[in-house]
Amino acid sequence: MNFVDLRSDTVTWPTPAMRQAMFEAPLGDDVLEEDPTINRLQEMAAERMGKEAGLFVPSGTMGNLAAILAHCQRGDEVILGKSAHTYLFEAGGISALGGVHSCQLPNLPDGTLALDQIESAFRANDVHQPVTRLITLENTQNRCGGVALTAEYTQAVGDLAHAHGLMVHMDGARIFNAAAGLGVPVRDLVDPVDSVTFCLSKGLCAPVGSVLCGSGPFIAQARRLRKQLGGGMRQGGVLAAAGIVALETMTERLVEDHVRARRLAEGIAAIPGIEIELGPFTNMLFLKLDDRVELDAPRVVERMAQLGVKVGPIGTRRFRLVTHYWIDDEGVERAIQAFAKVL
Ligand SMILES: *Cc1c(COP(=O)(O)O)cnc(C)c1O
Repeated sequence: MNFVDLRSDTVTWPTPAMRQAMFEAPLGDDVLEEDPTINRLQEMAAERMGKEAGLFVPSGTMGNLAAILAHCQRGDEVILGKSAHTYLFEAGGISALGGVHSCQLPNLPDGTLALDQIESAFRANDVHQPVTRLITLENTQNRCGGVALTAEYTQAVGDLAHAHGLMVHMDGARIFNAAAGLGVPVRDLVDPVDSVTFCLSKGLCAPVGSVLCGSGPFIAQARRLRKQLGGGMRQGGVLAAAGIVALETMTERLVEDHVRARRLAEGIAAIPGIEIELGPFTNMLFLKLDDRVELDAPRVVERMAQLGVKVGPIGTRRFRLVTHYWIDDEGVERAIQAFAKVL
């Protein structure tokens, strides 16, 4: 990349090994479940997550949507965070397309939902009220700074949910960053949940796709929903091939992105005018311009781009920076120097 692009880990290109695997992938019609490459990816993903089955979907958004629609009937309620990606950034799909009602609880600074607040949100068996059906968690929690939820916390939520006959879905878009950050196997983080989605197309560098994992019957139901939502793909093995390479070669190296995020934070912390608001816990940090700086975030973004560094503004005075495979040590130093120059 010519630019040092810190806007997101979604900007990552596939690696040369991925392009080669895409070129060579054996293919079939996946709606007929005959694409060997998709089948293999789904099996690998399910095995990594410790679940019975997997379903390749075009995006994390569709994975979460199919999962929530599979768990809930129209009018059912899902408990989720006010800062959840599903609540904020999935175009309201669960209510628009699924008629699923949401109960939003505040995320604590560590990304969690308080157990006592979850419990008080459970609805009584009363005709006036929707039926509580599902709790969703997000790991890593994006808006809380990419913070990782521990296996112990997720277990506690799972125990609480299951004791009340409820299900738990994990939006694990960056679950491998959570595993790398905590130094635990990813299975431990998703063992307590009924279903999990993770993205291949973020830090893992695949061009397209996510995988939803869960029990056999749940995935069968989600497969029908994926078709209904228009996500039934045919020779999608060209995409899944990159996902296989992602699972084989890209998960362990995520710690390097976390080290670079810390170096980036250290360099930026020394620059007057900009404060680190959140993180880095894993591969992202949130920054804020202090009152001394007259430029607003969009102007800073413009000037940074002139110096070859892309950063993502949030509102008028804040930014999010995300490290990934295509940001090397030199890219980190270039970004720090660009901030120093602009501010
Ligand atoms: C990116 C992301 C998703 C899904 O994103 P898509 O762009 O639809 O693949 C879901 N949850 C979180 C937390 C994310 O960061």
